[in-house]
Amino acid sequence: MAIYNEEHNIFRTAFKKFIEKELAPHIDEWEQKREIPRSVWRKFGEYGYLCPWLPEKYGGSETGFEYSMIIIEELTRAGINGAVVGIGVHSDIVAPYLNSYGNEEQKTNWLPGCGTGEIITAIAMTEPNTGSDLQSIKTTAKKEGDYYIINGQKTFISNGISADLVIVACKTTTNEDTPYKGISLIVVEDGTPGFNKGRKLNKLGLHSQDTAELFFEDCKVSVKNLLGHEGMGFSYMMKKLQQERLVSAAISQYLAERMLSGAIEYSKSRKVFGKPVSRQQHNSFKIAEMATEIELGRVFLESLIADHLIGMDIVTRVSMAKWWVAEMANRVAYNSLQLYGGYGYTEEYPIARDYRDVRAHTIFAGSTEVMKLIIARKLGL
Ligand SMILES: Cc1cc2nc3c(=O)[nH]c(=O)nc-3n(C[C@H](O)[C@H](O)[C@H](O)COP(=O)(O)OP(=O)(O)OC[C@H]3O[C@@H](n4cnc5c(N)ncnc54)[C@H](O)[C@@H]3O)c2cc1C
Repeated sequence: MAIYNEEHNIFRTAFKKFIEKELAPHIDEWEQKREIPRSVWRKFGEYGYLCPWLPEKYGGSETGFEYSMIIIEELTRAGINGAVVGIGVHSDIVAPYLNSYGNEEQKTNWLPGCGTGEIITAIAMTEPNTGSDLQSIKTTAKKEGDYYIINGQKTFISNGISADLVIVACKTTTNEDTPYKGISLIVVEDGTPGFNKGRKLNKLGLHSQDTAELFFEDCKVSVKNLLGHEGMGFSYMMKKLQQERLVSAAISQYLAERMLSGAIEYSKSRKVFGKPVSRQQHNSFKIAEMATEIELGRVFLESLIADHLIGMDIVTRVSMAKWWVAEMANRVAYNSLQLYGGYGYTEEYPIARDYRDVRAHTIFAGSTEVMKLIIARKLGL
């Protein structure tokens, strides 16, 4: 199945030039600063690389999801692993909620800024005591007149520090029997009294992407900031998680491809016991195994992208891809790093960073175990 045509190739070539000029020279600096500067978000916006799907009436170019995939693929290929998560969360995960569930006033207020990079977004579901079990969140939003009063805490929120606008999953009603029915999504803008950003978390990897704790203490938000309908938040999140998991599977796949190609190049040039590392039979078999798994991942991923593009329900298969590709990429990380010997354990080669960065993909956007729960449920087990 061919997803990409000549127009896509032209876009890809232009985006690669953008990476070379505007991003690649600064990656190490952003890794150290633990974020990408706001000016870079604006640059992305200026060139039309944020939310490429955004409708023209909100200033976007209204392209298909495959353009987002090209952006994600090329950023990953260039080793911009932290920023690809930050940008991907904004463009392909959070802003689409505003587009799908926002009313006209909300869309007019927020979407143009999402496209230009004036508005950076985040979504806050996870709490210190609840990650996988989303129904059990404790953050509440009590209605008082024309306002919701939000109390609670969120953690591990991607773009949490940079965000101008956070979609917060809150309980607007509590019902022990059907807790998910009480969940609503409320948009909280930076600067709202009672909304405080906490620590920028010190993570194992993905250093050029900020991940934060967020606090809500009697945070007063207009009822106009409710996204969609009260009590529908859980259902909205379940619908949008299909694309979120596809994005995560894609990043894992592209990372695996990048890690293996680096390991092949290195192991062909380094000699041990009189011949290249790659030609020791054990290693050539390892490389052959990795190449096979990567090929399987690529075929699976592309079939999912194609089906997602025509609006099919791919929840079961995307859950399979999310866990399998992420676990495969982690195997590839382990075995590729091994081929570098001691050099793999230093920052001299990108494999050290890729090894750290790929680890998050079996955890966020629904962990491997949660994906298996979904698949098992879909199989009627
Ligand atoms: C870098 C990063 C970025 C993130 N970004 C965001 C974000 O932007 N927004 C957001 O809301 N969250 C975000 N998260 C949070 C992420 O979604 C959660 O960490 C994840 O859902 C797991 O939740 P938890 O950490 O509370 O682990 P827990 O839910 O406590 O799970 C602990 C372990 O138990 C396993 N487990 C859970 N249930 C079962 C079961 N039934 N059977 C067997 N094992 C089980 C889990 O898979 C995991 O291995 C991010 C996390 C990271 C690391």
